[in-house]
Parts: sequence; structure tokens; C-alpha cells
Amino acid sequence: MEVNITFLDREPIELNRRQLVKGLAAGYIVALSGCVDNPALGRQQLLLVSEAQMTELSASAWSQIRQQQKVSTNKTLNNRLKTVGPRIVNAAGLQNQPWEYTVFQGNEANAFVLPGGKVGFYEGIFKRMENDDQLATVMGHETAHVAARHSAERYSQQMAAGVGMQAAQVALQSGDVSGAGTIAAVLGAGLQFGVLLPYSRTHELEADRLGVVYMAKAGYDPRQSLRFWQNMTAQRNGSAPPPEFMSTHPSDVTRISALQTQLRSMGYQV
Ligand SMILES: [Zn+2]
Repeated sequence: MEVNITFLDREPIELNRRQLVKGLAAGYIVALSGCVDNPALGRQQLLLVSEAQMTELSASAWSQIRQQQKVSTNKTLNNRLKTVGPRIVNAAGLQNQPWEYTVFQGNEANAFVLPGGKVGFYEGIFKRMENDDQLATVMGHETAHVAARHSAERYSQQMAAGVGMQAAQVALQSGDVSGAGTIAAVLGAGLQFGVLLPYSRTHELEADRLGVVYMAKAGYDPRQSLRFWQNMTAQRNGSAPPPEFMSTHPSDVTRISALQTQLRSMGYQV
């Protein structure tokens, strides 16, 4: 099996899986350019795809989602998202990307943000939010996945594990919904296609932690994040697919206590 690897800002090269695994084990692929220090996270990341490639995948997935889902005409909800969204994006320092904010029809308590700045919130999630601080909680969490390049990291991990994504990419371009689902799942919006690929425990906790930092920076009350997650936990319906941020890990208890620790470190009494 051939794996087509594009290092950051370099011409693509092809490695077979054995070469790739050997290279990763020996450390030379990482040493070349794959492993990147992420100061916001305080750790290194394996990144084998460029930001431009993720943005391109994102654009394809976004246009599929826009074709398949009905856009909400509710002015109030659209205005709320278009007000809170940019404030969080600015706090995250990501205002240089062309952001797009869309509310979709539907009762699901769901939301997603794709790399490159595509934001989708469903009407249903607004019913679970008591105020704009809680809207900022979800926006902060999802924006943090983008800032932390979690989908690029996940994509890279899959490449390193030998899971070919090219087939899915071709399928996406030809309008194949199952392939589109695979790509969207890697990007963080798989549920729109019925594919659930939860972020790892590490990614979820990082998104929570950065999310409340963005909330505070944007002038929202980060303590409302606790209230939001507690409400979501209490209202969770076992039969409906869980939204991205309520996937099975980390557990609700772990998440709430990690958030409390973060909020205390920011000077809040919780
Ligand atoms: Zn998440």
C-alpha cells in the first residue's frame, strides 16, 4: 500500500507503509517536519498534512453539508451566532481565516466547526443554552479544536497507522456520501453523515481548557461552561446520537472536574 505524504510546505513524496512506519519509528520523519511544537497546548503534535490541505478537505465537506442540510432562516439565532462567533474567533487569534457561520434547521443539540473556519450550529442546540455565555462555551470548545489543529493531528495519526484517506477524498469529490462521511468524521463533523468518530480524551480536555480561556478573553463568563456541561449531561437522551462534544470520553465527571481546575487556575471560585 502506498501512502502519499505531504510534509508541511514541501512537495508530496510517496512512501509505502513499511517505509513510513520505519521512518516514524526511527524518528527521522518526525525530525524532518512532522512533529510540531504547539505552544498553546504545551506539547508536540504529529502533523503530516498542511493547513492548506485541511482547508481544502474542509471546503468539500462543508459544501456537501450545505447541500444536504436545510439552512435556518431564524434571524434571532443567526444573529446570535454571528455575534458570538467572531468574538471567540478573535480571542483565539484566528480572525485571519474567512469564517462562515450557518444555523441549520433541526432539533438536534449539535454544533461543529471545520478547519478553515466553517461553523455550523443546529437550531436544537440553542434550546439547550440559557444565554450567550453558553453559546460561547460551545463555540469556544469547537474553535479550540481548530486552533489546536486536532483534525490535522487525527488525520496524521490515521495516515501513520496506514489508513488510506485518498479513497475517501475521491469519494467525497464524486459525491459519495459514505466517503464524505469519513472525511467529515476526521474533520469533526461526521454526525452530519451518520458517522461518529469522537475526538480522543486528550483532544476533548484540551478543547474544554482552551475554550474557557477564549470565553474569558472575549468577555464571556467562563463559569457558564460548567452550567452548560452539567445541563447537557442531565438532559442527555440515550437514544439520540450524542453531539461531538458529548462523546463518551472523557467521562462527564472527568470533564467537569478538569474544567473546575482550569477555572480556579484562572482565578474563579467554583
Ligand atoms: Zn470536542
